[in-house]
Amino acid sequence: MTEIKKEQKQPLEKAWVDLSFDNQEEPWCSMCAGYTDYKRKWTSVARSDLDGGVYSENREIPHCVICGCVMQFLSIARVVTRICKVLSSLVAIISFMLCFYLFDLSAGTFSCWLICLLFAGLIWMLPYQSRMALRSQRNWRLQNLCKETEMLLKNSGEEKINRTGKTQL
Ligand SMILES: [Zn+2]
Repeated sequence: MTEIKKEQKQPLEKAWVDLSFDNQEEPWCSMCAGYTDYKRKWTSVARSDLDGGVYSENREIPHCVICGCVMQFLSIARVVTRICKVLSSLVAIISFMLCFYLFDLSAGTFSCWLICLLFAGLIWMLPYQSRMALRSQRNWRLQNLCKETEMLLKNSGEEKINRTGKTQL
């Protein structure tokens, strides 16, 4: 009886979906440079299906309560920027090999390579909002680190003063 109960329980436990907010990543506001309070707004996004048609999908997008801007999930921003960096470096490398190994060096091939480099640069710069979010978060972390080190230095300085005061007494 107990074995049957265990077998019946297992698929249910596997099918559980944790809907609590503890596991979810907090969105980041690039304008306020912080994990500010947010409200979720329903926004419809146009998607294409396999039959060639288009349908609208409703998605919850976090908006900052303070400035009202759309907030970013930093994990997604990291993936998007990495993909764009890899793509742009591939374009730069392949265009270099095509222009200088397959063809002789001339003004035409050099200008073609420059155009490909411009294209690679455009791909690199494409995820503007993701890059802005990551940059603001990096600056925020640096500022926090500076504040913490200042506090540590102050505390250690005060401790030294206290110790020297005690030894003098
Ligand atoms: Zn904000």
